[in-house]
Amino acid sequence: MSGDGDPKKGDGTRVVGAGRRKEWTQGIVNTPVWRASTILYDDIADLRANAGRDTHHRLFYGRRGTPTQWSLAEALTELEPGAAATFLYPSGVAAVSAALLSVLSPGDELLLADSVYDPTRSFAQTFLKRFGVTTRFYDPLIGGGIAEMISDRTRAIFIESPGSLTFEVQDVPAIVAVAKARGVTTLLDNTWATPLLFPAIEKGIDLSILACTKYVVGHSDAMLGSVTAAPSHWEKLRATSFQLGQVASPDDAWLGSRGLRTMALRLKHHGEAALAIARWLETRPEVARVLHPALPGCPGHALFVRDFKGPSGLFTFILRGGGEAARAALIDGLDLFGIGYSWGGFESLAIPVDPERIRTITPWQVEGPAVRLQIGLEDPADLIADLAAGLDRFRAAK
Ligand SMILES: *Cc1c(COP(=O)(O)O)cnc(C)c1O
Repeated sequence: MSGDGDPKKGDGTRVVGAGRRKEWTQGIVNTPVWRASTILYDDIADLRANAGRDTHHRLFYGRRGTPTQWSLAEALTELEPGAAATFLYPSGVAAVSAALLSVLSPGDELLLADSVYDPTRSFAQTFLKRFGVTTRFYDPLIGGGIAEMISDRTRAIFIESPGSLTFEVQDVPAIVAVAKARGVTTLLDNTWATPLLFPAIEKGIDLSILACTKYVVGHSDAMLGSVTAAPSHWEKLRATSFQLGQVASPDDAWLGSRGLRTMALRLKHHGEAALAIARWLETRPEVARVLHPALPGCPGHALFVRDFKGPSGLFTFILRGGGEAARAALIDGLDLFGIGYSWGGFESLAIPVDPERIRTITPWQVEGPAVRLQIGLEDPADLIADLAAGLDRFRAAK
């Protein structure tokens, strides 16, 4: 069987077949773990010949990867129609920083969505600042209006859609059109949707980033990131990644490949269950608003309907009144929801979210405290019963 992420086939077929070249799998169903640092050569001539060659997908030295990493990277490339290559990183944050460093130089300006993942914001405000890059924040609902923000120094626009705390859906095609016309690189943190729900490169994005820790790994047991590049951007990304010495371990890449085979199935369940729970929350008097891209109350909902193939399993809801203690009564007493960072695993999670602490240009004014839910693979009826008891505790504590 050859790798087959053929976009004309269904998502389940694509994730099962992608990246499984016989030379890498050796006939084993999931590409096995090839661990290496040293690669041995026959003689000096062989060693020299390899050093001079393009080492892409060729054993050279462990830092350049082995078939285990190449198999997952190629699978992710196949899932992004139009993409040239994918590089793996030891975490999603490492993928974000390598992607930005492959594009930016001192003196450049970065436009960053005000709704981005907090460590991305912090990388821009500290590391990139020290490196001589200026960051300006944009309203995630700006759309084509971003044209007015672009200056001669603007080199890159970093998008996260929907934002993984507050879920504003951005007009990616409009931003891409402006960026292409002005020669600005677009980067998208596509962790929420994955290429199955939003094929980013096909939509014109130059660098599509995944925290594979989430839906690709899917079982909360490994850290992994990836950047998939359009043909115009992959060589610089590769050079930067190699220079930074970035390598994802073969063991973690293997867990990523193993997770990927069920990703279409899991995403479908996460998406359907989360939407059912979000709709139920909307009917509850304790809930002021549900920020789920597939529901009309979410900013950018119409763009979600236009551009996405479906929802995944992460959303936020806003309580009506109440404070820290009432929110804690809700979350702390939940039985089936863990309290912890990250998401995309088989288990449901709940965390408090307080975007007012991190926003720069778009104030966060809402009716009460917010809760973010990752809906796992438990039965939705059980999760709803757990949340119903939580809302009762909230009402009593309020
Ligand atoms: C978790 C996350 C990351 C970072 O991934 P790690 O693997 O935890 O470093 C980046 N972006 C988004 C949207 C995330 O949710």
